[in-house]
Amino acid sequence: MKLPVPEYILSIPPYVPGKPIAEVEREYGIRNSIKLASNENPLGPSPRSLAAVRDALENLHRYPDGGGYDLATRLAEKLGLAPENIVLGNGSDEIIGMLTTAFLSPGDSAVLPKPSFLMYEIAVRCAGANPIKVPLREFNQDLDRMLEKVTPETRMVFLNVPHNPTGSIFSKAAFEDFIHRLPSGIIIVLDEAYIEFVREPDFPNSLNYIDIDKPIVGLRTFSKAYGLAGLRVGYGLMPAEVAGILNRVRQPFNVNVLAQTAALAALEDNAFLSKTVNMVHEGLDYMYAALAKLGISCCRTQANFVLIQVGKKADEVFEDLLREGVIVRSMTSYGYPNHIRVNIGRPEENERLISALKKALLK
Ligand SMILES: *Cc1c(COP(=O)(O)O)cnc(C)c1O
Repeated sequence: MKLPVPEYILSIPPYVPGKPIAEVEREYGIRNSIKLASNENPLGPSPRSLAAVRDALENLHRYPDGGGYDLATRLAEKLGLAPENIVLGNGSDEIIGMLTTAFLSPGDSAVLPKPSFLMYEIAVRCAGANPIKVPLREFNQDLDRMLEKVTPETRMVFLNVPHNPTGSIFSKAAFEDFIHRLPSGIIIVLDEAYIEFVREPDFPNSLNYIDIDKPIVGLRTFSKAYGLAGLRVGYGLMPAEVAGILNRVRQPFNVNVLAQTAALAALEDNAFLSKTVNMVHEGLDYMYAALAKLGISCCRTQANFVLIQVGKKADEVFEDLLREGVIVRSMTSYGYPNHIRVNIGRPEENERLISALKKALLK
């Protein structure tokens, strides 16, 4: 069939998501498998979110609040911003798309780390713009090199703290030097999807830069620490002028009723958030020790996942782990053919990963 599809759409690499548990179990004829592939919260959603969603079901015949008034207002209050600084999205993925739709035209460029979250490149290409991918240096974003890649065509840069898939961060000073040297008029996207898990004190927080004279957008999500990945809700923190532009391209009812309700309830459940974060930190400490005992090296991480160098083909280790009912992510498509990425699970899940990994590596 002849299709009028632009060349830049054909250039988009198809996104390869983690497989749903049901599909893997069917394919491999296994049961009771565990998924440590998509950095989700293994404790599930907050009980408060569940209760709020149950109550909201009665009102599904109504359109959502298009402005997300309650949620944006509560977020603003918690963060010390104005509601005008916040844009809600159907996951922060959608905000990435709004940013590229609103600010990039064909021929423009956006600078991003390589590897990084695949949605950046997909969204940039959807707008007909060119992704300029700057390799990491020893698993860290190479800010100097990224600056060197900025040209008069550059409209946007993507940074990710903590970085997916390495879990690395950079310091406040490094970030401030970067934004100081970056020419004005370039949108700085600081993706903070895992900010709740950071243990190091010295990292840049977008909140502190919303009022500088360069446009910064912090991206956050309810999908990871808040356990609401299935409902799709994320938000961006930005100067009101930037939010005004995004609201022009935003679908009027982009965040559904249940997502708004669940997110609002999750924000009030501090106990659940602390339980999640503590579990991740303890799980990471267990993982570091267990991996060291197996003689396997991994990146120190500030997120809820860890990049593990398995010392052989990651795709094979991935298959071996699947047969043991442990679903992880092979990093081959990210350019790391000998690494897997594993998110921290409940203690018994972490132990199962370690014993399956031991078996796979001894093979
Ligand atoms: C998971 C993730 C997101 C967000 O996802 P949404 O579910 O769309 O909110 C954003 N950036 C990175 C780096 C992620 O890993």
